[in-house]
Amino acid sequence: MIDIDTVVSNMKMLQGKGVKYGISDSRDGSGMTADNSGAIYGSLIKAGANLKIGDCNKLFDDLLDLGFAQSDSKPSYGTIFILGIKVQANGLAGQTGVFLDENNVITMDYEEGKMIVDDIENIKKKYGYPPVTNFDLVKYSTYADETSKDEEETPKTDNMGEIEQYSYIGNKLCFKGWHYVVNNEKPVDPTPDPNPNPGDETWRSPVHLPVTVTQEWDQEGWGTPGEVHGGIDLASESQPIYAARAGKVYRAATGNIEGNYVIVQHSDNYWTYYGHLMSLFVKAGDDVTTNSALGPMGQTGLADGVHLHFEVRVGTTWENAQRINPRDVIKF
Ligand SMILES: [Zn+2]
Repeated sequence: MIDIDTVVSNMKMLQGKGVKYGISDSRDGSGMTADNSGAIYGSLIKAGANLKIGDCNKLFDDLLDLGFAQSDSKPSYGTIFILGIKVQANGLAGQTGVFLDENNVITMDYEEGKMIVDDIENIKKKYGYPPVTNFDLVKYSTYADETSKDEEETPKTDNMGEIEQYSYIGNKLCFKGWHYVVNNEKPVDPTPDPNPNPGDETWRSPVHLPVTVTQEWDQEGWGTPGEVHGGIDLASESQPIYAARAGKVYRAATGNIEGNYVIVQHSDNYWTYYGHLMSLFVKAGDDVTTNSALGPMGQTGLADGVHLHFEVRVGTTWENAQRINPRDVIKF
């Protein structure tokens, strides 16, 4: 049985400390440093868990193995949360920490690179309101059975409205480095620029205006001499990336070059592509509107700064779709 007091007190001990301590086996060979999943893992191990340190994806499964259960009850002392979702086997982001009471959590502040105590609402806001999954330790196995049965029958909701589409899947942490620029000064507005009809066919900027275009569509692409860029690079003070038009997520995945990326299919053979996201809030098959946050702007993959690589393509399939200048459909 895991001793929750030990988990919490160990997390408290980490408060104010960076958690970049090397846990070489935690990133599955990616060679990246540890992060807040490492902190949780370390605390669970101190509390009696026989575990190999991993990322949030593994944590999701490990918590269930340790006797935790997903919970829709009010979080309380010892509730472990994971932000974000698991979509596929690779590289989707999340964040984790533990509740001290129903509001305050100990977690990683990515700007300062250290553990802090903050209100969960501030944490969620900072990262653009990702889905949240809470885990509570189920103390008695008879309760566990009843609880999980009840939970299956109870509609699951979180602050995003519907978490049930995530409730059965894990989560994965894959912040690929420590140089993400997280803008803590300006709180993230969970709603994009006013758009009274987010589900209509209107195009909008995938990030809050104003944006800085750091590379144009027809410029020679970085890393691809002789080839034009093919997309437009956007930097903005705002973190969340929104779907540029209503549609359906065709792919949400991770690549070495693209980092965390999302492809959205729209009507009229349009497709949009969003690269280098810090993390992913959506998965393939999700319906999105221009009020749907796809994930925070990031620097994952081959990127030399925090920005969004955004493409618009036209074609009957993603594979045959041709790039067009995003400025043809959106005013930046
Ligand atoms: Zn680009």
